[in-house]
Amino acid sequence: MSRLLIVANRLPVTVSPTESGVEVERSSGGLATGLARPHEQSGGLWIGWSGAGEELTEAQQAELDRELAAQRLVAVPLTTDQVTRYYEGYSNGVLWPLFHYLLDQVPLQVSDWDAYVQANELFADVVAKQYRSGDMVWVHDYQLLLVPGLLRHRIPDARIGFFLHIPFPSEELFRTLPARKQLLEGMLGADLVGFHTPTYLRHFATALTDILGLTVDIDRVQLPGREVRLGVYPMGIDAGSFQALANDPAVEAEAAALRGDGSVRILVGVDRLDYTKGIPRRLLAYERMLEIHPELRGKVRLVQVAVPSRTGVEAYQEFRTLVDGLVGRINGAYGTPRWVPVHYIFRGLSPSDLVAIYRAADVMLVTPLRDGMNLVAKEFIASRPDGDGVLVLSEFAGASWELPEALQVNPYDTEGTAEVIFRALSMDPEERRARLAPLRQRVATFDVHSWVSSFLDQLDRVTGPGVRAASPTAGEAALRAELSQALERNDELLLLLDYDGTLVPFTATPELARPDAALIGLLRALAGRPDTEVHIVSGRSREALEQWVGGLSIWLHAEHGFWSRAPDQAEWTPAADIHGSWREPVLAILRDFTARTPGSLIEAKAVAIAWHYRLADLETGARRANELRIHLNQLLSNHPVEILAGNRVLEIRPYGVHKGGIIPPMSPEREARTTVLAIGDDRTDEDLFASLPPAAISARVGPGATRARFRLDGTSAVRGVLRMLADSGVGADLA
Ligand code: UDP
Repeated sequence: MSRLLIVANRLPVTVSPTESGVEVERSSGGLATGLARPHEQSGGLWIGWSGAGEELTEAQQAELDRELAAQRLVAVPLTTDQVTRYYEGYSNGVLWPLFHYLLDQVPLQVSDWDAYVQANELFADVVAKQYRSGDMVWVHDYQLLLVPGLLRHRIPDARIGFFLHIPFPSEELFRTLPARKQLLEGMLGADLVGFHTPTYLRHFATALTDILGLTVDIDRVQLPGREVRLGVYPMGIDAGSFQALANDPAVEAEAAALRGDGSVRILVGVDRLDYTKGIPRRLLAYERMLEIHPELRGKVRLVQVAVPSRTGVEAYQEFRTLVDGLVGRINGAYGTPRWVPVHYIFRGLSPSDLVAIYRAADVMLVTPLRDGMNLVAKEFIASRPDGDGVLVLSEFAGASWELPEALQVNPYDTEGTAEVIFRALSMDPEERRARLAPLRQRVATFDVHSWVSSFLDQLDRVTGPGVRAASPTAGEAALRAELSQALERNDELLLLLDYDGTLVPFTATPELARPDAALIGLLRALAGRPDTEVHIVSGRSREALEQWVGGLSIWLHAEHGFWSRAPDQAEWTPAADIHGSWREPVLAILRDFTARTPGSLIEAKAVAIAWHYRLADLETGARRANELRIHLNQLLSNHPVEILAGNRVLEIRPYGVHKGGIIPPMSPEREARTTVLAIGDDRTDEDLFASLPPAAISARVGPGATRARFRLDGTSAVRGVLRMLADSGVGADLA
């Protein structure tokens, strides 16, 4: 197991100065619990701000340092001013409201960006100092969006994961941020970027396309020299602990006391006092319900726990006044000497008191206006071993994606929410149980431990050996050396060569890629080399290949291996059925997109259809390609075709036909006496590399993640290597 460096804004401790020194208490939050195991077991470090102020005496500071070191925690030294500006000012004052779609909460003047950059630099410095080769680094959340990028500069080979715990907003909103580019580039420093839901991932992908002009291939982004993977990892809770606590007799007794004789039904809300949590609208919906259902007055009670939060940020102070006012209004209007409609608690509760409230609830109200995930919803579910209780859940909480059996509401619709709360109160016990059971199952299975391991396993996979870009040592010289050795051992040579980007450089239009005389001469020499079989494996049409290299005595494979032609034969053989009902509608859409995207063009091959946008404006082309993919994905969902993103080209083709399929079957004897060399430059060539026999030699041209064993700089390097092979054949013949 690699050592894990966890990087988060806060260390998982609370530091309180005492008379004699400091007290360092471990936090019990979800993240702290989930990460404790890998932190412990990997012998790793947790890097973050300790939360201690600057006023510690020297002795207190020394004790704190000792305590932290003993727990393998590393403090990032932030001054009070830095915390005020980076954390409260930019992170919580700007990014938090914006990422939660609450633009009106963003201050008119933003002056803390420089502090955000500085603090992120400071984090990156501390991580780089602690880093040892082979470590995995996992950076968390919106306070540290720049850290992956800063780390990538400091430690280019580091294995870096990033997880965003809040929503990633729609690109339309995100692009209002002046620092949008820096923030995206910061996140792209990671090898793996994780989100709670597919929607957040999609928004991020659109932002990359529209703002940076990058092509996103569903779950990966190709950057010069490396690939960034994107993934969805909905965070879970420590379900086991909640279940255990809920079964604790003292907690059960407290829950029973809260419920009393059952004559007053209990609605519960538990939130940080944050404007994203939808508390005012929830109160209004509750008020509305009391108004339209007078029979409920005196029969229900809303227990609202509001945990004080970010009290230093101005927007939160105003917000508190608003909530206080609404609670007062409802209690004033409907309360009686015997009954208070809203029982409002403005402080944090102990874990057992919290679980007692969850257990006592008839209906749990989780109605945020926007929430990355919302753990309270899951905690409520885990705290109900009795199998009863109704969850009312906002459709704008990330959790709603995983918890469809909850009663979903649009929190902006006060009238509708009032109706749903009423329905929750009136639901019969059978339906309550039937809805809760699958929720409980899911929350127990996908707990915080499974969340941590699925993210880390994927990070390990995508940064493991053979996946990262080949090291600079496995370059042209190493390839030549390996080939020379192989040729000494073996009599036969099998060459599998991509065309565009490998044998000839990319050109503005496909027609300009015709081979020059030198290339024709080289291919002819290779074809004439003793015991040598040459295959050209291209995405091109049969006609183009025939016209360009059809006169040579070599194998031709057109349309990524769909069509094959043996040397000196006129017949092409297809690898699959060529009749597709999908072609016409796809062509119609492509014509439309081509008309609206200057510089793009359609290449209709016999089987596949390609849409090239190399000549289109960078941003427009990438954006249109993304839109087109979404469009086609829907259209083609029932057809056995796939959409492939190449280098500024989208290709639609029958499923399962790829370059790997053209490799000639070889007996073990032939394999033992043959040197196999495959060279290519893009995703479609990776299919070829993946299907090669184990001893084959593969080379990737240009940057990009690859499974090839060697890397060549460009087409002239490729030609140089091929020239060496052609000459070696001549030499062997003469000898
Ligand atoms: N919580 C707490 N003390 C309380 C009430 C709640 O520690 O008195 C915890 C709760 O158990 C949950 C967290 O606060 O784990 C809130 O997480 P959530 O994802 O719901 O919202 P966030 O506060 O992260 O926006």
